[in-house]
Amino acid sequence: MRLKYYLIICLFCCIGLLAQGKTFTVVLDPGHGGKDPGAVGKSSYEKNIVLSVAQKVGNKLTETYGKDIKVIYTRNSDVFVELEKRARIANDAHADIFVSIHTDAVDKSSVYGASTFTMGMSKESANLEVAKRENSVMLLEDNFQERYAGFDPSSVESYIIFELMQDINMENSISLAKNIQNGFIDRKRHSRGVRQAPYWVLHRTSMPAVLVELGFISNPEEERYMKSSKGQDELSESIYQAICKYKRACDNKSSGMQSLAQDDKKKTEKPQNELQQALRYKVQILVSKSELKTQDKQFKNLKNISFYFDKGLYKYTSGEFLSEQEAQAYRKSIKNSFPDAFVVAIKDGRRISLEEARKIQ
Ligand SMILES: [Zn+2]
Repeated sequence: MRLKYYLIICLFCCIGLLAQGKTFTVVLDPGHGGKDPGAVGKSSYEKNIVLSVAQKVGNKLTETYGKDIKVIYTRNSDVFVELEKRARIANDAHADIFVSIHTDAVDKSSVYGASTFTMGMSKESANLEVAKRENSVMLLEDNFQERYAGFDPSSVESYIIFELMQDINMENSISLAKNIQNGFIDRKRHSRGVRQAPYWVLHRTSMPAVLVELGFISNPEEERYMKSSKGQDELSESIYQAICKYKRACDNKSSGMQSLAQDDKKKTEKPQNELQQALRYKVQILVSKSELKTQDKQFKNLKNISFYFDKGLYKYTSGEFLSEQEAQAYRKSIKNSFPDAFVVAIKDGRRISLEEARKIQ
């Protein structure tokens, strides 16, 4: 199944980045390693090709961005790393993107081309087969039954747990995947497109995540290409450029998203410094996966609608107060329409706990 491409570059990551003021973090995940060679070609192992390409991507990113980027590898040598740990590394680092790198293989040596996968339940059985093979590394792990809660990577039934959810990171993942595939096309590679498949490692990462299949190690010509330094330079250049483009989109958009309350003219007239540093209390009324218009009917009769961005969601607030007491009073006044509303403290565009806020005050 070919995905319907989402043409909108989602701004989730950008606002998140801005709010947190943190370095852009990329997790590069060369598949397999150590006792797990991955797919085996005539004269090479998947694990070696993907490590080399990942390192080239990482080096290019660090050379370009220096301290403005943090590159983390799930493995940086020929060692076995469990899938669960790969996802954990990315989640613990609060990475902005996760890029898993693999090579494909099928019985037919004539099949060739590069694909980039995002997480999702594919209706195309071939994609499921690829995912099953990549997931089957779990079987090499000690106590895998316990670790993966009985998930059997070779059983189709097990994939029911991967039911396609409304993934808040999906649009960003697709945007990144498209950048990568376009890079391959620019370098005259055959593109098999952006696809979806239920990869465990993508399922467990909580940020935009893609899995790149560089090409088919089972195709002699592609194996030669992927093994060669020219091939690896081109492949890594495509991924590197795609990440740069993605990062640029975030950087560019972020300045435009700085204002929390787009319809609050008074507030935007205040000096930016004061805005960012001031501690304010607001009443959180609802959360949304996508950005809502401030004139949305849900906000009728509410004052000072604004949002902050947290864990992939737009969190909408109403009111803006200097003290917690005032905010609590306001919360009570809108209780009938928003029984679940609660007071939040916002400092430097970011939510802090009420306890923290009380200390500051
Ligand atoms: Zn693989």
